[in-house]
Amino acid sequence: MSSPSDTPILPDGVVIVGGGQSAAVAARTLRRKKYTGPITILGEESHRPYQRPPLSKEYLADPTASVDLLPQDWTDTNDVSVRTDVRVERIEEGPVVVTTSGERVPASAVLLATGGQARTIGDATGERIHHLRTRDDADRLRAALSASSRLVIVGAGFIGAEIASAAREQGVEVTVLEAADQPMQRALGPRLGEVCAGLQRASGVDLRLSTGVSAVRESADGVVVDTTAGEVLADHAVVAVGIVPSTAVAEASGIACENGVLVDAAGRTSMPGVWAAGDVANQDHPQVDGRIRVEHFDNASKQASVAAQSMLGADVTNSDPHWYWSDQFGVNIQGVGQPHPSDEMVVRGDIESDSFTAFFIREGAVSAVFAVNDEETVGLARELVNMGLHVPTDLLTDPERDLFEALEGAAT
Ligand SMILES: Cc1cc2nc3c(=O)[nH]c(=O)nc-3n(C[C@H](O)[C@H](O)[C@H](O)COP(=O)(O)OP(=O)(O)OC[C@H]3O[C@@H](n4cnc5c(N)ncnc54)[C@H](O)[C@@H]3O)c2cc1C
Repeated sequence: MSSPSDTPILPDGVVIVGGGQSAAVAARTLRRKKYTGPITILGEESHRPYQRPPLSKEYLADPTASVDLLPQDWTDTNDVSVRTDVRVERIEEGPVVVTTSGERVPASAVLLATGGQARTIGDATGERIHHLRTRDDADRLRAALSASSRLVIVGAGFIGAEIASAAREQGVEVTVLEAADQPMQRALGPRLGEVCAGLQRASGVDLRLSTGVSAVRESADGVVVDTTAGEVLADHAVVAVGIVPSTAVAEASGIACENGVLVDAAGRTSMPGVWAAGDVANQDHPQVDGRIRVEHFDNASKQASVAAQSMLGADVTNSDPHWYWSDQFGVNIQGVGQPHPSDEMVVRGDIESDSFTAFFIREGAVSAVFAVNDEETVGLARELVNMGLHVPTDLLTDPERDLFEALEGAAT
């Protein structure tokens, strides 16, 4: 990689398409790695880059909670141009970024960081029907919560659960409808799904499992949700059934896509000079023996950092499993990696209690971790997953034994 005094690399600058988590980390990484050329972030939203995790947590309850990702004084000091209300249409070979207003922005490197959009059900739209992806969505939902006594949420994943938690704290009556037999069943399996269900029910949520939803519509004075078990009525509805990766720019540019934008382990897309990171990127990942598209903050940050370094010529790959967290019903959940349905699960602590860690074992190695109120164990477990260590089950499951033993064993 060139030092700042060498011939400048990327002389035409870096253009980042999308102004979210990946954009912010890429800009910070480029400057941290002493890149001195122009950096331009083009975002379609009217807000400067902000964090999404607080939208279903602190910010949903309190609009003064800070969500800034790239404060103005940082971008001024570091000479990063943040342009809001600019929608990108496509990227042409060169690369040249073309906006919907016809502006052409040449670049030496482009990062596609367009994230995803909330998935919906049919044409579920209306004043009383909500999705939660953007800051504007959160502002609208906050107003709805304060005006509702009954809320129905479609989807019992992390975002649905976090909204249910915030609504219960405000005394709103909450019904959650979930098509699967347990919340998060596909990602975590039935036993941990049962734990998530328990958290909701203990907080007074009316959780209805195995309940498919075919339509969400407004009525004269509320909403009606059509389910496999009949109609559910409420004042407002939230559709929280996941996201769809925002691949429109990549597709219009002829960049290879399949469940997101296809990237290699350094974040390179099929178009020379164009990288992708975050929720939109479907990465060839050494840890999963294939591709994975992850919709978590830590993954977006890691991929963006790797892509930025790769633009600067570094030989880097994103090979770490992702880490995630969720705060709901007064409980902190954290996880690492993606368990496979055939993985064996062993538990450290009592799964019936309010603090435990579940380890997933694949071919003898720790492949993934899920923990409730056990931050300390997750910190160490992250290392076990990163290193793909084979750890004796009795060491994992005995809370009296220090997991450092496993790391020390690996180091000797
Ligand atoms: C409510 C909520 C809560 C969450 N909580 C957690 C959590 O607790 N833990 C966790 O790990 N993760 C959480 N996440 C997920 C995390 O926020 C995402 O993984 C992360 O934001 C992904 O970053 P990104 O840069 O890929 O995309 P985003 O942050 O979505 O940014 C993409 C940006 O690109 C813009 N864009 C799209 N198309 C264009 C275009 N054509 N032109 C210009 N701009 C465009 C979009 O408008 C958007 O602003 C949460 C997400 C949400 C919505």
